[in-house]
Amino acid sequence: MQTDGRDHEALIADLVKRERISDETARLIFSPAFDEFRARLYEAADKVRLETVGDEVFIRGIIEFSNYCGCQCDYCGISSHNRELDRYRMDFDDILETASHAYGLGFRSLVLQSGEDRSYRASDICHIIEAIKGRLGMAVTLSIGEWPKADYAAFRAAGADRYLLRIETSSQALFERYHRDSKWYDRHKALMDLKELGYQVGSGILVGLPGQDGPGLLRDLEYLERLRPEMVGIGPFIPHPKTPLGNQPAGLIEHCLTFLALLRLYLPDSYLPATTAMGTLAPQGRQMALRAGANVIMPNVSPLSNRPGYQIYPDKIGQSDDAETCQRCIEDLVLALGRKPNLGFGHIKRKIY
Ligand code: SAH
Repeated sequence: MQTDGRDHEALIADLVKRERISDETARLIFSPAFDEFRARLYEAADKVRLETVGDEVFIRGIIEFSNYCGCQCDYCGISSHNRELDRYRMDFDDILETASHAYGLGFRSLVLQSGEDRSYRASDICHIIEAIKGRLGMAVTLSIGEWPKADYAAFRAAGADRYLLRIETSSQALFERYHRDSKWYDRHKALMDLKELGYQVGSGILVGLPGQDGPGLLRDLEYLERLRPEMVGIGPFIPHPKTPLGNQPAGLIEHCLTFLALLRLYLPDSYLPATTAMGTLAPQGRQMALRAGANVIMPNVSPLSNRPGYQIYPDKIGQSDDAETCQRCIEDLVLALGRKPNLGFGHIKRKIY
């Protein structure tokens, strides 16, 4: 692969062919020297996106049902580090009512996300999944952190279709630096368990974590290639003032879009969201992501009263937009790009490659 800086076109052609990337090339790709070629990379990823997953953009409504969290992730605004946060949790009826409202707006795919709130027993989560599946027939994605394998099995038996759990970083050292109360291997094992249980698995990383570099991002890409999740969600690290990483610089939108484009090239048929964090870091962040390989978007359908409490990072967009407004603005955003919004189940159609 070319790395001498003269033949970036050849480099992009190699990336499209999924050639192995060297550490030296990774350093180049995640350096300012590559900035003028990024648009070409995004274009290449957009073409592969059209060929593999088409023009549809899958829209999933997200309900952030509890901001209680027992974890100490050094970057996260709702982690137990943040003692000043007002905590909330929704009960069964609140969650069902919110889900029904989203159903009424046309959503058929829901993501249930929360901090690691151990006041819900596995049976409570199962009860919620069964009710959403049984009464509304919606596709259910869980994003509720690490649980014992037996609980993942119970959630799956209750009808959960998908599970989102980011590896955050493939580096054990970096992971354990920022998660003093957890182990990288446990996170990896959880992803293996989820795969084995037949979930459509979503994983991903934080781009721009302090201490991460080009070769580190390459290791992340290689890890995700081996894991081969159905979905990969990535976003920039955004410092939250009430966390230990509050004074660190944010990740760069260009690096996020570059990593996203590489994901589209190296995992061509995976489902890749244009994440809220990208839209928070750059005003057009989600639109740029949809044009650099992404094909999913997840508007917030949580009750407005919960929004201030779920600032994983500061200034999260969509704080004052109710579910209906979020849905409309997301549909408009997708249509304005000449793409097709799809509120359906959005199950992955995996091709062999
Ligand atoms: N508790 C669940 C889900 C909530 S956090 C879990 O941990 O899986 C969802 C994602 O938000 C995390 O995976 C993390 O990558 C991201 N996140 C947390 N803090 C962030 C920050 N400061 N900036 C950007 N993304 C952040």
